[in-house]
Amino acid sequence: MENKLKKNLEQCEYIAKTVEAYRKGEMYRCPACGEEFIWNFSGYDAAGNTYACPYCKKSFPMKDLQQLSLSDYLMSESILDIEYLLDKYGQFVSIKLLVSACGPSIYIDTDESAVKLYGLCETAAYPLSEETVNELNEFYGDALNNLPASPVSNKKYVYLITLDWATEDDKGFEFDICATPEKAFELFHKRIDQEMNPQFSWVGEEVFAEDGGVKEGYILDALEDDTFATASRWCVSDDDTGRFSDIYLRRVLLQ
Ligand SMILES: [Zn+2]
Repeated sequence: MENKLKKNLEQCEYIAKTVEAYRKGEMYRCPACGEEFIWNFSGYDAAGNTYACPYCKKSFPMKDLQQLSLSDYLMSESILDIEYLLDKYGQFVSIKLLVSACGPSIYIDTDESAVKLYGLCETAAYPLSEETVNELNEFYGDALNNLPASPVSNKKYVYLITLDWATEDDKGFEFDICATPEKAFELFHKRIDQEMNPQFSWVGEEVFAEDGGVKEGYILDALEDDTFATASRWCVSDDDTGRFSDIYLRRVLLQ
């Protein structure tokens, strides 16, 4: 177990350091083999101003190495998925970038300013610098503001998942935006699972019997429509106390 936790942390650290290297312009691509690597003094030959690729071992004049930037990384296949966090006015707050999905999921999370790993029952995190978090937020915040004109997006729709909830003494509203219907339904179901979990929400064992049925005194209003002709909804309410948890998934046409 200890080994696993150490390995998880090392994975986060490796990704964080890679992202930082792209941001600082320390990442290069070999012109021969195409591999990308962090610039290191051990590969540099000051006499000839040449650099030896750590992968194919060939030596090149420094000017032939392609220097990479953070946006090279963000536009690459390393980014498997993007989750936007928006406030209730639809303004950009932060992003979560999925960078590993085999085994534990690993995200670059600007809300947490960290690379975060989620295993079956363990998590790990390695911090990101403020500069990198700011550049990531700028990159995705700007892209979001320019969505219809952005060359990276030719999609006509975005998918909104909202969670509106109230208890006797508190209430809240959360909002996510997804680029694909698959991701949107995944998040929709994740939100529902969270409400069903007594650790996160009153709804859990109070409302649902062991056989999955709804106990007396509560109302479940659930509808799923993957054609998006109507919004998908999962709403639990308790009329006696006014508590509710209302989850919506809607498709929104971009203007
Ligand atoms: Zn090479």
